[in-house]
Formats: sequence, structure tokens, C-alpha cells
Amino acid sequence: MPHDHDHDHDHDHDHDHDHDHDHDHDHDHLSPSGHPYRKDDDHPITYWQTMEIAIRELLEDKGVLTADQIARQIDAMDRRSPANGAAVVARAWTDPAFRDRLLANGSAATREMGFDIGPLHLVAVENTQTVHNVVVCTLCSCYPRNLLGLPPDWYKSRAYRSRTVREPRAVLAEFGVTLPDSTTVRVHDSTADMRYIVIPARPAGTDGWTPDRLAALVTRDSMIGTGLALSAL
Ligand code: FE
Repeated sequence: MPHDHDHDHDHDHDHDHDHDHDHDHDHDHLSPSGHPYRKDDDHPITYWQTMEIAIRELLEDKGVLTADQIARQIDAMDRRSPANGAAVVARAWTDPAFRDRLLANGSAATREMGFDIGPLHLVAVENTQTVHNVVVCTLCSCYPRNLLGLPPDWYKSRAYRSRTVREPRAVLAEFGVTLPDSTTVRVHDSTADMRYIVIPARPAGTDGWTPDRLAALVTRDSMIGTGLALSAL
């Protein structure tokens, strides 16, 4: 579309322009790690975007991190996805010894599968016939990002953070998860160094399925506890 071409052209122009004004922060420019920004962008940059740019530029100027290192970390984070957690859950469903190790030490068990989950403590909690687990961070947005990637926006919302601890059944119902009164609901509040993953109940009718086939039934929400694993149909 012509509009898109125009936009790309503007973009290139800004990049070229910036090469002549490398350290003039008053000008539009492409930042050192490649995030383009300009004063008259589609939306004014926010407080937090300004903060991110300032801190990133300081880290680079002081030689703490290079733009390349930052870009590679962002790449690594973007490659993490709920598929990692789904593989862990499918293995737990099919390998009882692994399930036990996962429940005993989530960090060690997921590392065993080759996932780089960093220094945080990963705690796996298992849904059963009588217990349903759901994960929240009431304080902010703690989430097992190193395994599952970035959290959904609603996970960080004040509504989810506050209501999940006060009225978990009502919140779950809004996600389409209606539990019998006989089911115990356990809400787990994440912290800076303690992250939770829910092992959803294995769907009926999946006997003999391979881990790969089972993993396709494990949704992101089922590992937060705001959903169930998909049915085997
Ligand atoms: Fe948090």
C-alpha cells in the first residue's frame, strides 16, 4: 500500500539523519539498540518509555552493556513462549518420575529439559479432581517469563490482581472456568523470586498420546489457572 511505502521512506530518512547527529538527544533518532523513536511519533512517548531509553543509553554509555547484548536478550525473551511450558506439562503427564521431580523442584526439572529459567524459583502446582490452582501477582506482574514468555496484558491489570484473591471463582467464571463448589480453589501470589506454573488436569480420552500431541492441548491460560487444558476432541 502506498501509505506503508511512505512510512518506510520516512523511517529510512530519520535513520540517515541521525548519523549526522549521533549524540544530540534533542533530535529524532534511531536509538543505539535499534528502537526507533522521534518526538512527533504517532503517539507521544510515555514516562516509562522515556525511562527505558534513559536507562538503556546510560548502560551503553557507561559500558555496562552493549546494544548488541541488549538486542540479543530481547530476542531470547521473544523466543520464549507458552510452548515451552506446554512441553513441560505434557512430559509431566506422560512421565510420572518427571512429574514428581517437577513438583519437588520446578526450577531443576525444567532446566533438565533444557529451559534457561534463570535464578528464580519455579513452583509447579497440580490441578486434580478436587483442587484447582490459579496464579496471580497481587503486587505487580511477576510471571514465569523465563519459561512462558511475556504475560498477557490482563495479568498485569489492577482488576485481575485485586479480584483474583478476593473472588477467584467469579474471576474464573469470567474466563469461562466454572468449578463445582466441591472444588478447592487455591490462589498463588507470585513474588520477585517465586514464580508458579499450573499443571492442568490431563484431558480425558488422551491415553497413549505422545507428549507432542498432548502439548497442543496445553494453553497459556491453563498454565496460569484461568483456563483448562483443551479437550481431546
Ligand atoms: Fe510482580
